[in-house]
Amino acid sequence: MAKYSYDHDKARLSMQKYSLFSLACKTLNNHQGWRQAWRTLPLKNEYEILIIGAGGHGLATAYYLAKYHGITDVAVIEKGWLGGGNIARNTVTIRSNYMRDESIPFYVKSLELYEQLSQELNYNLMYSKRGMIDVIQTYPKLREIKRRMLSMHLHGSTYKSLDIEELRRQIPPLTGGGPDSRLPIISSMLHTDAAVCRHDAVAWGYARAADDYGVEIHQNTAVQRLLKGADGSIEGVITNRGKIRAKKIALAVSGHTTTLTDTVGLQLPLRTFNLTAFVSEPVKPLLDVIVNCPDLGVYLNQSDKGEIVIGGASDVGQSFRRDIKQDVFEDSVRATLELFPSFKRLKLLRQWGGALDIAPDATPIISKTKIPGLFVSAGWWGGFKAIPAGGLTFAHLIANNENHLLNEPFTLDRFDHLNFILESGTTAH
Ligand SMILES: Cc1cc2nc3c(=O)[nH]c(=O)nc-3n(C[C@H](O)[C@H](O)[C@H](O)COP(=O)(O)OP(=O)(O)OC[C@H]3O[C@@H](n4cnc5c(N)ncnc54)[C@H](O)[C@@H]3O)c2cc1C
Repeated sequence: MAKYSYDHDKARLSMQKYSLFSLACKTLNNHQGWRQAWRTLPLKNEYEILIIGAGGHGLATAYYLAKYHGITDVAVIEKGWLGGGNIARNTVTIRSNYMRDESIPFYVKSLELYEQLSQELNYNLMYSKRGMIDVIQTYPKLREIKRRMLSMHLHGSTYKSLDIEELRRQIPPLTGGGPDSRLPIISSMLHTDAAVCRHDAVAWGYARAADDYGVEIHQNTAVQRLLKGADGSIEGVITNRGKIRAKKIALAVSGHTTTLTDTVGLQLPLRTFNLTAFVSEPVKPLLDVIVNCPDLGVYLNQSDKGEIVIGGASDVGQSFRRDIKQDVFEDSVRATLELFPSFKRLKLLRQWGGALDIAPDATPIISKTKIPGLFVSAGWWGGFKAIPAGGLTFAHLIANNENHLLNEPFTLDRFDHLNFILESGTTAH
């Protein structure tokens, strides 16, 4: 694992500290004098590094580039508003229950970084380590999940079997799935390290800390195409606000990766799908763990406000839509009611979706590309949990032109040599 012996904290622009004391002082002062969380600066026509996409991965990368590599001539370019993409559309689940030797250490590291991220960024991310329970209803899934447990134990990730009595004790509203039901519950597994965390706060926290190091964030700036120089290496981008030059460009645009790489004739093994979620009206606390029902393709948790947050499987057809398709929605509701019949009385408040890209093996790509100077962080299906480790390793790769030990298996080379890291059982896909 790479160890960073330096920290560029001295270069910081003296970020306003959030604390009980500063809150009390500003309250007495009628909340006058709060500084903007990040600056709005004029757009330059050249930077050392351009990061496209101010989602979790783009902003975390900018932060770690500044913090660990001292590189601050960096602009993060965002076509909409900061944190308006999938970072604010996910169901906030953070977990490391993966199957393969290459994946588990990466996600274990990400969870470790998440645990102390509120302190590190001086931003309350409302991190809550509440555990996740997998409810198992078929024998193939039970076999797969027991195998996953053994792999996870090798890498220090936590998975333990729960009997059905204990499962029902831990999840009181889980009254369906009895012995006479269509798919009776046969077992369950508890992943104690799993947590939830306020998703848009992760974007805001990283943005504020990156800005403090001098990184520029430019919203409402859409990259229309990438530009290659005469020598074939990356040269810059064309945006709706003009041309910007940079010798290194990092793509962190989630489902839109191929839209941009197509503009320089680079084909990547990614397809974009729509993934959706919805929430109920707030109700009194009744669920203090994350519940995952892989056989029915639905998962849920209760938010701090009391809403039941429900996510389902993806739409099977490729698309860039950001709403929910009726049949996907109905499937998710039907699956939820099969296990939680009392939820039929809940009123649903909101639904939404996001465009996510996925590689054939359902493992992310953090890699150089065939175009010198162009880097890509993509294939983030369940990429919220991966933001700290994704940003840390992507920054390392961009700064050093060398992989971090943790992202070494995630490069594009694996597709040339068919070294797939098959994780499809651990995503909804
Ligand atoms: C419904 C749903 C539920 C999910 N649940 C979970 C979960 O529980 N746990 C989990 O780990 N993951 C989950 N995910 C996945 C997770 O949200 C994503 O994998 C992760 O957020 C992707 O990384 P990001 O935050 O950098 O992406 P984004 O926030 O999407 O950032 C990419 C940014 O790039 C910008 N962009 C795109 N094209 C351009 C362009 N041409 N020019 C400039 N900017 C551009 C976009 O506007 C966007 O802001 C879920 C996703 C969805 C949709």
